[in-house]
Amino acid sequence: MTNLQVSKIEELQGGFKGEILLPSDGAYDSARQIWNAMIQKRPAVIVRCATTSDVVRAVNFARDNRLLLAVRGGGHNIAGSAICDDGLVIDLSQMKAAQVDPTARRVTIEGGATLADLDAATQAHGLATPVGINSTTGVAGLTLGGGFGWLSRKYGMTVDNLESAEVVTAAGEVVRASATEHPDLFWALRGGGGNFGVVTRFEFRLHPVGPDVLSGLIVYPISEAKSVLQQYREFIAQAPEELSVWTVLRKAPPLPFLPESVHGTRVVVLALIYAGDPKQGEPLIEPLRKFGTALGEHVGVQPYVAWQQAFDPLLTAGARNYWKSHNFSTLKDELFDAVIAYIATLPSPQCEIFFGAIGGATTRPDPASAAYAHRDAKFVMNVHGRWEDPADDELCIGWARDFFAASAPFASGGVYVNFMTAEETDRVRSAYGPNYDRLIQVKRKYDPNNLFRTNWNIAPA
Ligand SMILES: Cc1cc2nc3c(=O)[nH]c(=O)nc-3n(C[C@H](O)[C@H](O)[C@H](O)COP(=O)(O)OP(=O)(O)OC[C@H]3O[C@@H](n4cnc5c(N)ncnc54)[C@H](O)[C@@H]3O)c2cc1C
Repeated sequence: MTNLQVSKIEELQGGFKGEILLPSDGAYDSARQIWNAMIQKRPAVIVRCATTSDVVRAVNFARDNRLLLAVRGGGHNIAGSAICDDGLVIDLSQMKAAQVDPTARRVTIEGGATLADLDAATQAHGLATPVGINSTTGVAGLTLGGGFGWLSRKYGMTVDNLESAEVVTAAGEVVRASATEHPDLFWALRGGGGNFGVVTRFEFRLHPVGPDVLSGLIVYPISEAKSVLQQYREFIAQAPEELSVWTVLRKAPPLPFLPESVHGTRVVVLALIYAGDPKQGEPLIEPLRKFGTALGEHVGVQPYVAWQQAFDPLLTAGARNYWKSHNFSTLKDELFDAVIAYIATLPSPQCEIFFGAIGGATTRPDPASAAYAHRDAKFVMNVHGRWEDPADDELCIGWARDFFAASAPFASGGVYVNFMTAEETDRVRSAYGPNYDRLIQVKRKYDPNNLFRTNWNIAPA
């Protein structure tokens, strides 16, 4: 950053309520870290906004000084788009306030909140909206890419529950987008990522959930994986939408309910939640216990917020991560054979392959009704390469890429934009699908000079 820009930063500081961090500041180094430790970038300035007015000032400052701009919600994006080299980062992590209207079943929450913040506010009233499975993830990035989790089969994608958003546009204007105000922008925000402005506030529809839910894990040995996966496929096709079951194949972590002899061995895990009355759920999950000879299970009635945080210890920030993902509309036997073959060569104890079951309510909207287009996806697969030592980069990345290629013939062709790694620029069209051209039109209207381009970019030209 030049001296001229430093003097301008002093201008930005006047009246700014949040915190401005330069490379010389003590807090700068931790502020530039994001969830994926493989991403190491050094912005010229990190602007921790406290209010919507701070965001307006920061957007105007970046635009007027022609600075590359990145926007950070929860900092979980695997591609590292929350941060940039040399430019300005708008960091929303101080903007987390939530207000629930239990009568109207609505929550309004600021753009830097995590899923834990959202769940805590809404579950105080026995309400929830579908979001992801790791509570430290940001509401903003997750929502803007589509968003799915344990409640999605019943209540749809996160974007299907978005009622309105407060947005700071590239022009520095604060607008409200909803079905009736700036409807084109509202359409684009629901799946088009961070291309259209900084969302300072989201308003979601809520549903009665819990506060206690039947949920947990059933673990089978890898030797039974093919049969377990085949039975899973048949089971989930006819399961009620309240019931969500995902499969994870990996080495067993040292979970206390598993015998020690199982720790570190290859397993297939069924992760389940019944989002209705636990008593009604009990008989419905019974068949899952009969898919083979389970090595152990930990299933019971627990707070929904506890289930939302159950996987956090396996998904802590600071590890090296590399993902590859496909959507599937069906799961074929040949796909199961490929998964089992690659689980045999897992390159680290933390690597895994999972199939998240969506379907149900996520498939009902017209693909053109919101920017999120993948209404044919019944399963989202993620090859989650995760390890600690940089010396293992090549091995772990190679493994993820090879399985990605081996599973491609069975995939639907679409990909979830929020699971794409940095080098996958050739998949942007697949991610936005048939809505890509309409997204370009909205981009031209709200961000014609592509100020918001540190993302899966929809170029206006
Ligand atoms: C451990 C883990 C588990 C996950 N599980 C799920 C899951 O179950 N379901 C699911 O759907 N996804 C899941 N994801 C993917 C997740 O949705 C994406 O990583 C998402 O981008 C994270 O949002 P964030 O705000 O934390 O990210 P950030 O990295 O902060 O932001 C990502 C991008 O979103 C945009 N953005 C962020 N905040 C704003 C804002 N306020 N206004 C405008 N643009 C903004 C910017 O373009 C930014 O580059 C998971 C990710 C991780 C790391």
